Amino acid sequence: VPFDDRDGWIWLDGQFVPWREAKVHVLTHGLHYASAVFEGERMYGGEIFELTAHTERLFKSAEILDMEIPFTVAEIDQACKDTCAKNGLEDAYLRPIAWRGSEMIGVSAQNTKTHVAIAVWDWPSYFSPEARAKGIRLTWAKYKRPSPETEPVHAKAAGLYMICTLSKHAAEKEGYTDAMMLDYRGYIAESTGSNVFFIQDGVIHTPLADCFLNGITRQSVIKLAREKGFEVVERHIKPEELAGFTECFVTGTAAEITPVAEIGEYTFKPGNISLSLMDDYSKMVRRQLVMA
Ligand code: PMP
Repeated sequence: VPFDDRDGWIWLDGQFVPWREAKVHVLTHGLHYASAVFEGERMYGGEIFELTAHTERLFKSAEILDMEIPFTVAEIDQACKDTCAKNGLEDAYLRPIAWRGSEMIGVSAQNTKTHVAIAVWDWPSYFSPEARAKGIRLTWAKYKRPSPETEPVHAKAAGLYMICTLSKHAAEKEGYTDAMMLDYRGYIAESTGSNVFFIQDGVIHTPLADCFLNGITRQSVIKLAREKGFEVVERHIKPEELAGFTECFVTGTAAEITPVAEIGEYTFKPGNISLSLMDDYSKMVRRQLVMA
């Protein structure tokens, strides 16, 4: 079903509007100049996982893009909960987005109004259950994550997804599920919509999030793994080091924890550590595992 033709309600600038009527004008600054920031979060059994962390990241992303959201964090938190309730969902993916309106069109957008919308829908699994069971296959992305001097790399901003969509499309055309992006220095960065972890001799390694999104799932998984007694090392990882890792998985709100079977010429097998973290993560988000 196309995303503009569904039943339900979308929260738009403080009010609920019928799903099909939640539209913007073609001369919207966010559409022309990518002045838009967004979030992706999930509700599990009536509770949104890390709700305030996501809302705070939305505000941080807006601030980085010099946009002012005309609501408070508490108001957006409440609106997220209300939108799930209004749509009768207890398990849902939530997509809050803020963008500059159509008062001005041009590079300068000083006098535009910032709009906010929240849409929620049922989205059980980002990758197919079959792919998740075997591990997904990734190829190398043609584009590299830019340096912090080139783009505001820590904002979850629409504009930063241009190279993600291009890389993901190229991968899919070759039969892969996703693409692994290197950063501007040539280190392993992240996939087009999730962070990556590797395992070698019982130790978990993950790239330092110094030029890409430090995912909320990434941070939760690092905390979870450390609480379970694993050593987690955040460091720069070179592509050729992948030969030494036995397990690999990606993390993200949509992807949750998904094992990886292949990145280019390197292969991995979902092993005990990945499987136990997947199990613990799914318990944690459903509050069946209480963290310190
Ligand atoms: N990197 C990118 C490019 C993403 O789009 C996402 C998903 N938001 C992530 C990482 C993971 O972030 P999170 O765990 O906060 O969803």
